Amino acid sequence: TGSRVQVERYGSHENVFLARGKNDLLVTKSLTPGYTVYGEKKIQVEEKDDVKIEYREWNPYRSKLGAAIVSGVKNIYMKPGMRVLYLGAASGTTVSHVSDIVGPNGKVYAVEYSERSGRDLVGVAKKRTNIFPIIGDARHPQKYRMIVPMCDVIFSDVAQADQTRIVALNAKYFLKNNGGCIVSIKASCVDSTAPAEVVFKRELKYMKDSGFVDDETVDLEPYQINHAAFLLRWRP
Ligand code: SAM
Repeated sequence: TGSRVQVERYGSHENVFLARGKNDLLVTKSLTPGYTVYGEKKIQVEEKDDVKIEYREWNPYRSKLGAAIVSGVKNIYMKPGMRVLYLGAASGTTVSHVSDIVGPNGKVYAVEYSERSGRDLVGVAKKRTNIFPIIGDARHPQKYRMIVPMCDVIFSDVAQADQTRIVALNAKYFLKNNGGCIVSIKASCVDSTAPAEVVFKRELKYMKDSGFVDDETVDLEPYQINHAAFLLRWRP
């Protein structure tokens, strides 16, 4: 908490901010002032007419999407009011920032197959009513097709060797034409014997052959070692 902090929009990203203080921080505007999700720092800023706005710190060392933003990605596709399908939600830490970004009129469908992480995720969704937790396997989208509508964006961080296949399958079910897709890939997760560049190239080719066009690829180092993020659009 500090009143000397100035908050400005982070590049061209809607609802993503940079808090300028002693140290500059990536932050989102909290949808649930007073509540934090994973012990992140809260920053209160007084706007006009004594109105206080609360922001939450978003640590890029703990979030692939946060890392992509601070690594300079041009477009994360997510905007207020959008519907996002999030694969590999874990305990919901990054999901909570996506929930801030899409805001009260947006929706986040968060898929996670670990029961343990899923419990935390359900806890986060109790406070944040724009998150719809789905405890299930992203390899079987037909099992959640009754819950998930057509979405504007898919974000994936499932850390599986067949992640690109999983994403393409989910896009066929749920991604609007020309919708955005972000895939965070750890090279060693896909193939620990090949150099990272070779793995990224191969996986990107798979995405293009599956109906995506690529906007850009960002290296997530030093925030996430051995990781890259693909930014794509669905044009099957
Ligand atoms: N995105 C999270 C964040 O930033 O907080 C971290 C995700 S972690 C790297 C990968 C998660 O994907 C794990 O929680 C794991 O249980 C989940 N996962 C792996 N395979 C999955 C699958 N087939 N379906 C759903 N979730 C899966």
